[in-house]
Amino acid sequence: MLLQGKNGLIFGVANKRSIAWAIAQACARAGANLAFNYLDERLEEKVKELVATLPGPPPAWKCDASNDAELDRFFEAARERFAGRLDFLVHCIAFANREDLEGSFLKTSREGFRVALDVSAYSLVALAQRAAPLMSGGGSILALTYLGSERVFPGYNVMGVAKAALEAAVRYLAADLGPQNVRVNAISAGPIQTLSARGIRGFTEILAHYAARAPLRRNTEPEEVGDAAVFLLSEAARGITGETLFVDSGYHAMGM
Ligand code: NAD
Repeated sequence: MLLQGKNGLIFGVANKRSIAWAIAQACARAGANLAFNYLDERLEEKVKELVATLPGPPPAWKCDASNDAELDRFFEAARERFAGRLDFLVHCIAFANREDLEGSFLKTSREGFRVALDVSAYSLVALAQRAAPLMSGGGSILALTYLGSERVFPGYNVMGVAKAALEAAVRYLAADLGPQNVRVNAISAGPIQTLSARGIRGFTEILAHYAARAPLRRNTEPEEVGDAAVFLLSEAARGITGETLFVDSGYHAMGM
């Protein structure tokens, strides 16, 4: 099993449709010991219920990734849980105000831009700062991104800009942490029907467009992202860092 005995943190489970949950299940099947965050009290019960179905069962602690004090408390709990040795971290966190995910990008407010970039991109830096000291035996950090970072998708707007920053952060973090044998990569997933995706106007049309145009002629299954994540988190990907791997039925390769 690719992650047998490895200790990993999963950020971003909200419900059973979350991509983070598909990744968590794949990691658990691959033998990993896990711990989870949940954003707030509203999600606490749902996340704890899901997590209880995994072997262990793993713990889940509250952590808003835009709050430094909560991040410090979370990583202290993780350090204790894993006796100071962390092997991987999965970042599946994104947020933008609803009004910034419709109409034109041109009208994005300063505050809307700040929130989207802070929660969806800077959070990876904040997590890596706290995870890296626990990865003394090397490690792997993985973030989730979308093609909207490079191309324009209607309604994706400020989130596209946040994903561009996230992908650049993956490369800069890979450069900083490589000498410590900590790898940093991203998976660029095709569109998947989740809670966050529901915030994007016209998402159903995006799904239909992908299924019609992607080389594999179908949409991305969360399990496909989970399996690719296990690969990138494992020793099988020991030569890969600073990379964005597309798991999108090949859609990104198409011109016309
Ligand atoms: P989701 O709504 O299930 O997950 C988003 C998570 O972000 C939630 O668990 C939410 O609690 C968390 N979050 C938001 N603000 C936070 C904060 N301040 N601190 C901590 N956590 C916070 O949706 P998802 O689609 O599974 O999204 C996971 C990741 O995958 C995101 O980065 C998203 O952009 C990316 N992604 C999604 C798709 C898609 O089509 N669904 C495609 C490509 C990439």
